Amino acid sequence: MRPIMVAGNWKMNGLSADAVHLTQAILHAEMEPMRPEVVIFPPFTLLHAVSQEAKSSALRWGGQNLFWEASGAYTGEISGAMLRDMGCRYVLIGHSERRQIFAESDAQVAQKVKVALLSGLTPVVCVGETEAERAQGATEAVIHRQVEAILPLLNLEASQPNMIIAYEPIWAIGTGLSASPEQAQAVHAFIRGLVAAYSTQLAKRLLLLYGGSVKGNNAAALFDQADIDGGLVGGASLQVGEFIQICRAA
Ligand code: PGA
Repeated sequence: MRPIMVAGNWKMNGLSADAVHLTQAILHAEMEPMRPEVVIFPPFTLLHAVSQEAKSSALRWGGQNLFWEASGAYTGEISGAMLRDMGCRYVLIGHSERRQIFAESDAQVAQKVKVALLSGLTPVVCVGETEAERAQGATEAVIHRQVEAILPLLNLEASQPNMIIAYEPIWAIGTGLSASPEQAQAVHAFIRGLVAAYSTQLAKRLLLLYGGSVKGNNAAALFDQADIDGGLVGGASLQVGEFIQICRAA
């Protein structure tokens, strides 16, 4: 049995007061008896505020990105140690907005995953195809390429997987058009199969999150699928009621 996780990606949204409000609302929500692991990914500027609110709770938080060098002349960048210093346990890597807007390559994603692991962070690595790639029947080829870049970084000796993979079809992100549970399950099963070729034990334990227009009213059907272990939620993670509904569906 794998645990279930609901992660909220705030993207470039929110000021201090929003961070306090959203974090407190999550902390005060009744999520028993099936409380999922809830992780929020605020912008860097709000990590301190979130950590102050959530420090003695089960809520976890993480950074939305990091740089692969430990320190130095990299204006505007954030290191793994800096995220750890803010109490982060997790870091998002390779979100499609980073891959598309900032041209992050598979090799750079892999480099970031490596440095996240060395920093003691659990990377949540995002993969996903564009609408055109799906239309061309290239979904599996794209996912294969993206997953293959990070597979060598999975620790096959460890009893627990050292990373989480989030499948986020780009056509479903922020569009209100979620993948159907069947479409998402098919890709999740494909990803688990790729990992199983390395280690069946690890594949069984690996958490695979689905992201792309997850809402309160579609979360349960998605999370019901055999290979979907929770969600990475963008827009709806900024709406307290909606996010809590998603957590309760987990
Ligand atoms: P969305 O975003 O839930 O707003 O579609 C998901 C994401 O980008 O992680």
